[in-house]
Amino acid sequence: MDLSYGKEFEAFRGEVKAFLKQSWPPSGDAAKGSKEEQLRRFRELAISKGYLARSIPKQYGGSEQAPDPLKGQVIQEEFNAAGAPMEPRGIGMMMLVPTLLERGEDWQKEKFVRATLMGEIAWCQGYSEPGSGSDLASLKTRGELVGDEWVINGQKIWTSSAHEADFMFCLVRTEPNAKKHEGISYLLIDMKQKGIDVRPLREMTGGAMFNEVFFNDVRTPKNWIVGKRGEGWLVSRTTLKHERNSIGAAGQMTALLDALVATAKRRKLDGRPAIEDPEIRRRLIEVEGYIRAHQYSGFFQMTKDLKKESPGVLGLMNKINSTHIGHRIAKLAIEILGDDGIVAPGERNMMGSEMDSDSTWTNYYMAAVGIAIAGGTANVQRNVIAERGLGLPRDVAADRSK
Ligand SMILES: Cc1cc2nc3c(=O)[nH]c(=O)nc-3n(C[C@H](O)[C@H](O)[C@H](O)COP(=O)(O)OP(=O)(O)OC[C@H]3O[C@@H](n4cnc5c(N)ncnc54)[C@H](O)[C@@H]3O)c2cc1C
Repeated sequence: MDLSYGKEFEAFRGEVKAFLKQSWPPSGDAAKGSKEEQLRRFRELAISKGYLARSIPKQYGGSEQAPDPLKGQVIQEEFNAAGAPMEPRGIGMMMLVPTLLERGEDWQKEKFVRATLMGEIAWCQGYSEPGSGSDLASLKTRGELVGDEWVINGQKIWTSSAHEADFMFCLVRTEPNAKKHEGISYLLIDMKQKGIDVRPLREMTGGAMFNEVFFNDVRTPKNWIVGKRGEGWLVSRTTLKHERNSIGAAGQMTALLDALVATAKRRKLDGRPAIEDPEIRRRLIEVEGYIRAHQYSGFFQMTKDLKKESPGVLGLMNKINSTHIGHRIAKLAIEILGDDGIVAPGERNMMGSEMDSDSTWTNYYMAAVGIAIAGGTANVQRNVIAERGLGLPRDVAADRSK
């Protein structure tokens, strides 16, 4: 197995490194103004060089590069190594922008893509409702066309960052007499208007990252619909095609494992550093094994991308593998902390300088539970792998016919 990227890509790596050495962190004139202004200038420069927003056309603010998974990988590695910011990470960039590029009207792309890319507007995702999570297509929030506007009534739940969002992309039932998957439309909604009530949901970490959102005669223009009436389910599936390989995720997991090893060196178990305990060492090595396997399956997927072959089941495995590894790291961390591991989150920073100051292993342990649920639960993910990836018979429990 040859894991080197080859001469051409190593030369490209040299270019990216040289660019970053000169441009990040900003210095001289580039360091003038607020942090936001510096960030914006840096992103614009990186886009003009073709390093960021590669799949976004120039007319919508991107750098419009030919698809090249290896170059993309090199850029990600070098930006991460330099601590340089890439595109904003929010749900708008991850989900809405690819959806608009594939299915949106030109005016929608012009209005929303560049502003999202530059971090000027933030989005939230209005999919889940009480009783409609895994069985999302049963959602009940109604949208009725009255004159030139959609009038929306109902409730969403678990809406991450709704309290900070400028807009929501939202699934709404607009065709009440159609079959459940065919009665949904994909609407864009301005969050700063009368009739929207955002109520925080307190989490066990003490934070309130997600919310309930109530709609009471909320309005959105008739043409703020992506795709046609009743096509919302199809539109919402667009982003599933943008599943990425797992190399980036493996990089983050490696950083977490490094933090865990540092904690194991610092903390004592039975009077000696935890890292000297044979069982702890065995489990650390076991986690590392999972991370490497995850990384190599990412390389395998990238090779398939390069050969223009379908990633098949590999593309579906990423989330569940990340979840699984995250749980193992979290569980081991809590055991290494012993009694300190059950201190309420936020009480003390157990990580010291090993993680950023807002995060503690206790917080991470709790958040790991959420990661197994967000964006489709681990069980549902297993169903998807079984049905779409392995071609096994459909789950008898799920009634998708109505
Ligand atoms: C951190 C976090 C952030 C989130 N952010 C957002 C957001 O921004 N916007 C948004 O719309 N939603 C968001 N969600 C909601 C998330 O999408 C749902 O929680 C998720 O889809 C599961 O739905 P549910 O909570 O209704 O659970 P349910 O669907 O009721 O599932 C309950 C249990 O039943 C199991 N189950 C259900 N159906 C099946 C099946 N067919 N086969 C096997 N097992 C099954 C599940 O695996 C789970 O264990 C977020 C959730 C979390 C945890």
